[in-house]
Amino acid sequence: MKIPFPTLNPISRIALGLVALVLSMLMVVDMVFGLIPDRADLAREIRQQISEGLAVQSAALLQAGDVPTLQQTLGEVLSRNKELRSLAVRQHGGGIVARAGEHERYWQPPEDGSSTLTQVRVPVLSDGKPWGEVELSFRPVLPETLAGWLSYPPLVALGTIGLGTFLAFYLYMRRVLEYLDPSTAIPDRVRTAFDTLAEGVLILDKQSRVVLANRAFRNLHPQAQEEITGKPVVEMEWLVGGFHVAPGEFPWSRAMASRTNISDETLEIARPGEEEPVRTIVGCSPVLDGHGRLRGCLVSFSDVTMLHRINDQLLVTLTDLESSREEIRRQNEELHRLATRDPMTGCLNRRAFFGSADPLYAQLKENGEEVCCIMSDIDHFKSFNDRYGHAVGDQVIKSVAKCLGSELREVDMLCRYGGEEFCIMLPGSTPEQALDVAERLRLAIEQHAGAAVRDIPGIRITSSFGVASIRLGAKDPAELIDQADNALYQSKQNGRNRVSLWAGERSVGAEH
Ligand code: GH3
Ligand code: MG
Ligand code: MG
Repeated sequence: MKIPFPTLNPISRIALGLVALVLSMLMVVDMVFGLIPDRADLAREIRQQISEGLAVQSAALLQAGDVPTLQQTLGEVLSRNKELRSLAVRQHGGGIVARAGEHERYWQPPEDGSSTLTQVRVPVLSDGKPWGEVELSFRPVLPETLAGWLSYPPLVALGTIGLGTFLAFYLYMRRVLEYLDPSTAIPDRVRTAFDTLAEGVLILDKQSRVVLANRAFRNLHPQAQEEITGKPVVEMEWLVGGFHVAPGEFPWSRAMASRTNISDETLEIARPGEEEPVRTIVGCSPVLDGHGRLRGCLVSFSDVTMLHRINDQLLVTLTDLESSREEIRRQNEELHRLATRDPMTGCLNRRAFFGSADPLYAQLKENGEEVCCIMSDIDHFKSFNDRYGHAVGDQVIKSVAKCLGSELREVDMLCRYGGEEFCIMLPGSTPEQALDVAERLRLAIEQHAGAAVRDIPGIRITSSFGVASIRLGAKDPAELIDQADNALYQSKQNGRNRVSLWAGERSVGAEH
């Protein structure tokens, strides 16, 4: 199992290494030159002096038999010397003569009668002969508790030096590596490799400061030519201004926050003195270290200006093509109209009429379906020409054509057959229905055609009609038309402004 261990950033690690080096050096210097005095030696010396002084003083007082003063002296010595825990004057073979402190508790001399650093004894002589001893129990030289160690001066000094040098090294290294010359963090060969790329590349650190900008990026804008390494990217107004977002919303900020790649951002970079902006596609990839921690972001800028320009040109070409196609379609329609329609009345011309009627008739005949033909001729038309002139004659033809057209269905075919003759094909109509239609047409002309000729108020226009049905066996439209024309002749014969049905050798008059 992997034990989670807080890993330090490189600057902290370097600073710690340097601190360790400094402390090791200090220790070596101390070992060689004794920089820090040995506290045990010092303590031993002082304790020896105190003990011997006290022994001499005790001997003098004992000589004088002044035990109370001796007692008082011991008390004084104990209270003045913080390192002393207890002391006593003991007579050989006898008991304690005088004491200070809890001597029974603290006095633990070595069995062999010698002294230690904490348990010191000094002989007291009387008349040149051993009389007894002064016994002194000192506190240990080294601390006994954690708090004691924490305030132990050599340790405090080492700790302070360690912490101080760590802080100093850390701040210094950070400044040196990131502020003054972060470019030194990128080896030259890496920089050269990035310069060979056609895409603009910007490497940012975690704080969105520029660590590296390649040549293609520096060519994006004149201000990118300046020294930008180490600068926060937001200081490049020409770059960030194009995003129109809040500072935390820049694509690299979002890529670093979400630790996902961003590849679909577009950015237009306006350049001084140039009308067309540089159009780029921006991609952002967060940079992680071996432990998956965020180190920065790699931002790329692909110049798609040329692509955009070609696209725009293509769009213009497409629009032109579209409009010329529309123009061609319109002209084709016009051509078709001219080729199939009579220009004066808008009715089908004979060519178009037969072009449609022939196949339709053949099909209807094959299926045994109904179809009728109506032939119509304006009565005494010649007299309009003669009386009012050709122009009025034309108006009469147009007016009659309009009346005919307005009374017919979509499927019916209306053709200007001759000067003032019209031919109508009625698919699906029985002879009775065709007669009804012809009668309706006759009435419409009689009632409305005259009113449409504005130049000659009260002009009376009528037409005669002949109807023929497929039922009498006409083999094609031409024969059917012929039959209808015969019936029309009958209508003319019978007094005009009437409808006749072709019924074989003789036509049958309708209502009129
Ligand atoms: P009806 O049919 O009643 O027997 O007498 P009509 O006067 O109509 O007889 P006809 O068919 O002989 O006359 C047709 C005239 O129509 C002859 C021709 O000058 C004239 N005409 C033919 N085409 C046009 C045209 O496009 N415009 C004008 N104004 N006249 C035309
Ligand atoms: Mg005629
Ligand atoms: Mg006529």
